[in-house]
Amino acid sequence: MSYYTHLECTACGRTHPTDRWLGVCTCGRSLFARYDLARIRAEVPRESVTHRSPTMWRYRELMPFGRDESVVTMGEGYTPIVPLALVGPACGLPRLFVKDEGRNPTGVFKARGAAVGVSKARALGINRLIVPTVGSGGSAWAAYGARAGLEIVVTMPVSDAPMIARKDCVVTGAHVVLIDGTTTDLFRMSQRAAERNGWTPIVALQEPFRVEGKKTMGFELAEQFGWELPDVVLYPTGGGVGLIGMWKAFEELEAVGWIGSKRPRLVAVQAAGCAPIVRAIRNGTEACEPWEGMNTIVPGVKVAKAFADWLILKAIRASGGTGVAVDDPETLAMQHRLALEEGLYVSPEGAMTVAAAIRLRESGAIGPHDTVVAFNTATGMRYPHLVRDELPIVHADEEIVLDGFPKPRARVTPATT
Ligand SMILES: *Cc1c(COP(=O)(O)O)cnc(C)c1O
Ligand SMILES: [Zn+2]
Repeated sequence: MSYYTHLECTACGRTHPTDRWLGVCTCGRSLFARYDLARIRAEVPRESVTHRSPTMWRYRELMPFGRDESVVTMGEGYTPIVPLALVGPACGLPRLFVKDEGRNPTGVFKARGAAVGVSKARALGINRLIVPTVGSGGSAWAAYGARAGLEIVVTMPVSDAPMIARKDCVVTGAHVVLIDGTTTDLFRMSQRAAERNGWTPIVALQEPFRVEGKKTMGFELAEQFGWELPDVVLYPTGGGVGLIGMWKAFEELEAVGWIGSKRPRLVAVQAAGCAPIVRAIRNGTEACEPWEGMNTIVPGVKVAKAFADWLILKAIRASGGTGVAVDDPETLAMQHRLALEEGLYVSPEGAMTVAAAIRLRESGAIGPHDTVVAFNTATGMRYPHLVRDELPIVHADEEIVLDGFPKPRARVTPATT
């Protein structure tokens, strides 16, 4: 028996059946999967998930699949919460943690959404997907598509598609098409190709399943902090699927009685060169103006105007949260610092969230006793182009000299958290 009951429009409330693939509502807005939460509350205690395998599928009652429906999985999710034991206390944040999504298959949290989306597509007989992407979405959908036996086209801008994303899409058998144009062109052209050829377009919040994968990050936060959510969650925001998904997760968890009413303040973190959500928060508007002339090295947040911007803004405001823009030099400096001092090689997206936490601590918006979680959405290893190195080469008939290295820097003693 499944607790998944129907799809519901986030704007007009109209309900839709679950037996076919749907993109958006007839009114054009995003759909959410809905569940029989009262029944879960009556039948499923939260302790029942704690002995299950450490993947995002441990929350299966709150995922859009029947009990015997097979899913495509590579063990995604249930990623660790890593304390920043040096950097946190040094910045006045003794309870600063990174949720390290870089441990997911493909090295990026997009695996969560792709696992659910691909599984659902296969279950509903959809087997040709076209995925326009500027970040790492293509990598994940290509990999899960390969595992499910689906045909995947990935379209990305030729100008700033990261090399790793291009390569791993090719390796996992996706058809990769490079677009010579803007990201607006990318989405317009992909949509048109999908319509003309009968392929299914995969765009954030324009199908209801990716968000069901990403919301599991919210379930994990609750469980990993002993069913009491942290005080602040910082998230690198592009299309906002993760933020919207986590907010949905918290509502579902409260409705099934697994958590109380406490919510974290949600912080959308964007790059100074592309910060439409941060700007909308500052201006108090309900939707974003499209960002003109985006310019940043952080691919995951390169979205000029998120399709479901109004849902992102609604969640942030309801949570009492805010938005922070971090410029690229500060992001890169933090990426290096976390690698040096914590051994954590995070993505620039992840570094951005830590930099933002420190900024909010300095301004007083985060207090010294707050439990703070910064999301690292991908491993730094997906971004080798950001690292420049000049390494000594020693010839085979020479000796390696070890005394020319600079002295290791003195380290502060980590406070216990
Ligand atoms: C896609 C992506 C993001 C943004 O995620 P959304 O949930 O769409 O806002 C952040 N970081 C990385 C590494 C990404 O690939
Ligand atoms: Zn609607």
